[in-house]
Amino acid sequence: MKIHEYQAKEVFGRFGVPVPKGMVCQTPEKAQSYARDLGRAVVVKAQVHVGGRGKAGGVKVARTPEEANEIASAILGMDIKGLSVRKVLCEPAIDIREEYYLGVALDRDSQRNTVIVSAAGGVDIEQVAEETPEKIARLPIDPLLGFQSWHALDVAKRGGLRSDILPQAAKTLRGLVAAYLASDANMAEINPLAVTSDGQVVAADGKMVIDDNALYRQEALQQYYEESEEDEIEAEAHRRGIQYVRLDGTVGVIGNGAGLVMTTLDEVSRAGGKAANFLDIGGGAKAELVRNSLEIVLMNPQVKSVFFNIFGGITRGDEVARGILQAYDELQLSVPIVIRLSGTMAEEGRRLLEGSPLIPAATMQEAAQKAVRLAA
Ligand code: GDP
Ligand code: MN
Repeated sequence: MKIHEYQAKEVFGRFGVPVPKGMVCQTPEKAQSYARDLGRAVVVKAQVHVGGRGKAGGVKVARTPEEANEIASAILGMDIKGLSVRKVLCEPAIDIREEYYLGVALDRDSQRNTVIVSAAGGVDIEQVAEETPEKIARLPIDPLLGFQSWHALDVAKRGGLRSDILPQAAKTLRGLVAAYLASDANMAEINPLAVTSDGQVVAADGKMVIDDNALYRQEALQQYYEESEEDEIEAEAHRRGIQYVRLDGTVGVIGNGAGLVMTTLDEVSRAGGKAANFLDIGGGAKAELVRNSLEIVLMNPQVKSVFFNIFGGITRGDEVARGILQAYDELQLSVPIVIRLSGTMAEEGRRLLEGSPLIPAATMQEAAQKAVRLAA
């Protein structure tokens, strides 16, 4: 789950990261009165779940309260990479002398949380990594040792940060890592960490992505969840407690178990087609969940056929067959559905499907080929 800049800064601030004291505004009038109360230049920043807001015109400095009003009205309602801006963050404008990059993310290759520092901040860090990788310093965190102050100083120094800034930067980095760990995040970054003209560091931007699988124990962060920024179908699936990811093909895919569903997506590609989604009904699914899942998959108008791939363990083939038949009747479906059932109660399931318009397949490969052909 992505959270907004103002939310990330709230969390970072609690862990000792220096953050500007700002205000979230939903109207130009509010931005104006914030600027008037502050009595100096403010920066007005679009709050949307994408990077590159600056380049898209979503970050602007206002010198007067009237200008804050004008800028906020231009940014509110703006479309940034397909997301519409409904809130802006207003903060005291920072007089930026230098821009650094501080980040921490889960590196799946080394299986470590890895700290990343660069003096080439402000811009796209991916671009820096590609064009001038020597400007980026990394430090994988040892899970037993943790991230100590000497680690922070070492990586900040290797990242090319100015020596007089090192103690402040190291402290900020430790705060960032603490916020990341406490929030079950898989990415947290400050880009840029601004160095002001009087030599102070402050997080001018903040970003954090929370591991969805840990949200159940992150009650304080759950309130940051915003459906409207999600895909409509994904949001509906989420409400129904269904693991669904929208893709851009035409073959709807439903299976039990994430591994099997991933394999099913591969089989669809191998058969020359493209999957329209990932949907995992999990273990032990009942007819009702099967029906619900089919309904979710068919909300996507691009779906031209559906491929059910069920390997019964705790999931019973007859339960799944009943769910599909129930959905077929109730939802008056016309989309062809190909089913591969195997494992527990698969034969009973196949018997239930006999004489129905549903298309059986003996193997995953055969099912994939049929589903792809029917979608074409
Ligand atoms: P992003 O483009 O989505 O990453 O948004 P940022 O918050 O990083 O803002 C983009 C750029 O705007 C930063 O790299 C800064 O150069 C600039 N910026 C952000 N906040 C301020 C500020 O308070 N004052 C000034 N002068 N520039 C700012
Ligand atoms: Mn940024």
